[in-house]
This record gives sequence, structure tokens and C-alpha cells, in this order.
Amino acid sequence: MSASGLIFNIQKFSLHDGPGIRTVVFFKGCPLSCHWCSNPESQNGRTCEDARWYTVEETLNICLEDRLFYEESAGPLPPGSPEYSGGGVTLSGGDALTQREFALELLRALKKESIHTAMETAGYAPPEVFWEVAEAVDLLLFDIKHYDEQRHVEGTGVSNDLILGNLQSALERNKNILIRIPVIPGYNNSNEDARGLAYLLASMDLKRAQLLPFHQFGEKKHELLGLPYTLKKVPQLHPEDLEEFRQIFLGQGIDCFF
Ligand code: SF4
Repeated sequence: MSASGLIFNIQKFSLHDGPGIRTVVFFKGCPLSCHWCSNPESQNGRTCEDARWYTVEETLNICLEDRLFYEESAGPLPPGSPEYSGGGVTLSGGDALTQREFALELLRALKKESIHTAMETAGYAPPEVFWEVAEAVDLLLFDIKHYDEQRHVEGTGVSNDLILGNLQSALERNKNILIRIPVIPGYNNSNEDARGLAYLLASMDLKRAQLLPFHQFGEKKHELLGLPYTLKKVPQLHPEDLEEFRQIFLGQGIDCFF
């Protein structure tokens, strides 16, 4: 093992980043700049006092400390989830695709230890980089932000072309994927947005999606980093606010949950 990765947090006992109890490794670096980002310190070029370099071995050892919890956290999963129900390790960020070599070595080291792996990703990377890393992960938690290209650029700073191309190639290779949609007020939370998103997923034959209602975790961090924040004081969303939105996905045959 030789690669090192720039990591800004390793969070233990997470219950929201894949099945079971998980350790989440937050990679610094993201090619997107979503207005609502809850980890703006992870985006490229941002200063981040907490980030430091970790070797693969060091990261692996931290993850292995909780092996017992991964093994014992088997439990019910959201409907339609993959059969695996224990815990494991999730690469998050930022986006692990920005540190390909480190991500790959870490994933392979975890696999050797029979630890389940997941990766939260925006899917924005050259196809060969995306696939090389995606292939080494057990479960992709793949974010879709908008179906409309122009609106995608407005919200995230990049087109969704490459993202959808990578998603399509992962589907063709039968990758285990859970689509996750951050639902952001004024950006993609209208019923028309739900119809566009549901239609997009249905056209790709995707059968399940998790909705992530907007929260305000990013507000303080934007302030601390001196970054403009367009969602200041915008009320958070809750599952009960999005029932109609969710029904539109169900109507397209997509198993949609929170
Ligand atoms: S893709 Fe995720 S980490 Fe990257 S800017 Fe958007 S919300 Fe933040």
C-alpha cells in the first residue's frame, strides 16, 4: 500500500450512508459546486483546517476498529435494497473519484478484509476513472440532481451529460446502484421536477430512488468559509412535505423512499 489521501473527516457509527452501521470516509475534492452543499469545505480550492493526509493503511486500520459493528448491524433495509444488510465503509466527500488512486487502494484493501463498501458519488469523472473506481465498490450511492442540463449547470456548475453517461455504463454492467436525489427548494422540488426526474429514471429502467429532503447543515459552513449561500433561512424540507413528490415516482413504477 502506498497511496495517501486528503481526508477531512472519518465519521463512525453512521446510519444514513448505506446499509447497516458504517464508517464514512470524507474525501476532500469535488468538481461540482452545488449551492446547497453541506460540505463546502470539500470542494476544490477551499481551505479546510481539518483535512490531512492519511495513508491507506492508517485509514484501513481506523475502519477495521469497528468491524464487529459492521457484522452485527444486519437489519431491515429500505424496500428494494440489495440483499446485503450488514454495515461497512462508505467513501464520501467531496467525491472519492477525485482521488482515484487512494480510493482504489483503500477499496481493494477493504475487500481483502471482506468489508462491504459503498461510495456516495456525483458520478462526474472521465468514464475510465469512474468505472475503474466504481467497479471496486459493492454499492454505488449515485446522486442525481436535475434532469434538465441547463438547470443542472445552474445548480451545480457542471453539465449532467458525463454523469448520465457514467450512470448508464454502470447500469449496463449490472452495478448495484441506489439513486439518491437531494430535493432542494426552488431548484428541483416542484411536481414538474418530480415528473422530469421520475421520467429520466424510468427511461433508464431504474427501479428505486431515495429522496434526501433539503436540510440546513451547509449554512454555517458557508458562513465560516465566507462563501455566498443562496439558501439562507430557506426552511428545511421533511418527508411529509414531499409526499406528492414521492407519489409521482411511485406512479412511474419507481420504489421511492426517504
Ligand atoms: S456533489 Fe456533493 S460534495 Fe460535491 S458540491 Fe455537490 S453537494 Fe457538495
